[in-house]
Amino acid sequence: MVNKPYGRKLINRVLPEKAKNKILKDIAELPKISIDRTAALDAEKIAVGAFSPLEGFLGSEEYNSVLFKETLLNGLPWTIPIIFAPNPQEKSTIDKLKSGSEIALFYQEKPIGMLHLEEKYRFSKKELAKQVFGTTDIAHPDVKKIENMGDVILSGKIDLLERLSPKDEFTPKETRAEFEKRQWETIVVFQTRNPPHVAHEYIQRCALELVDGLFIHPVVGELKPDDFPPEAVVESYRYLIDNYYPASRVFLSPFSIAMRYAGPKAAVFLAIVRKNYGCTHFIVGRDMAGVGSYYDPYEAQALLRKLDIGIEPMAFRESYYCSRCQSVASEKTCAHKPENHVKISGTQLRKLIAAKTRPPAEIMRPEIADLLSKYSANLQKAT
Ligand SMILES: [Zn+2]
Repeated sequence: MVNKPYGRKLINRVLPEKAKNKILKDIAELPKISIDRTAALDAEKIAVGAFSPLEGFLGSEEYNSVLFKETLLNGLPWTIPIIFAPNPQEKSTIDKLKSGSEIALFYQEKPIGMLHLEEKYRFSKKELAKQVFGTTDIAHPDVKKIENMGDVILSGKIDLLERLSPKDEFTPKETRAEFEKRQWETIVVFQTRNPPHVAHEYIQRCALELVDGLFIHPVVGELKPDDFPPEAVVESYRYLIDNYYPASRVFLSPFSIAMRYAGPKAAVFLAIVRKNYGCTHFIVGRDMAGVGSYYDPYEAQALLRKLDIGIEPMAFRESYYCSRCQSVASEKTCAHKPENHVKISGTQLRKLIAAKTRPPAEIMRPEIADLLSKYSANLQKAT
């Protein structure tokens, strides 16, 4: 059996066709609010059950519980508040809204969902930054995003009218069906926002030796400008799967959410979400969901072990290529001195690819490096 959803029930708030058409017919009568990409992707993920047990954007009591106790009101651990604070340009509409209002959410001029307003409340941006990201430093990409948010949060259940994710993206319901069809009972997920280098491949193979299936789930929704473009990540993984992995053991779907660079708290959130996709095991390497040097590189592993969320963390030390072992290894598996080690840094790889220089084969498969070189222009712009 695949893993149970978080809170035991997979939420579904995608409106059936008939109900959707009825709402669309009368949508002009409703108050209209624009939603940004982060919140729009969140709304979609709530609706398809990826954020189960959430059924909407958090109210103030639950928001504070997540910030200060790392739990939802039902007591389940939860570390990233899922909230919607519309652009301040919407102020005149927001002022008129009352609890119970039905609001049409528009993304890029298209209606994508309905918000059943329960509460509107003010919040402290400093407190949000400090509690979730551990810093108020504006150089942190999420702290900067918080600065640009509106001042009022709207909470309530949502109903989805239109999906935003790419057509080849699987919902939790669909991945569960796929895993069952493949008769996988234990499924390890690999969270990523980078194309595969040899250390990633090593970790994935190690994990796959112990379970039935490997689910590669790259974040494609919204990344930092200096991350690899999502298409590059997906394309390079498709290549790896088609040419090196057994098709019956590895499955890939893009995952469109806004990445949260909150280190340990983001790692816990990303693990909870993957439980909803049916995964039983979660690979957590060094400095997961980190940025700069805001987080201790192994704090994510510690927090995942501490909180019981019902998905088994598989913790890996930093791996490197060892010229004496002649393989990828880690301090756990290799006895040799650092001068024998070729460390593999994502930043360094990005720089090489941006300069159209092939990284050494000990670090990245040459075919993958070549495939990525067509994205070098995007990387140069960012770095
Ligand atoms: Zn060695």
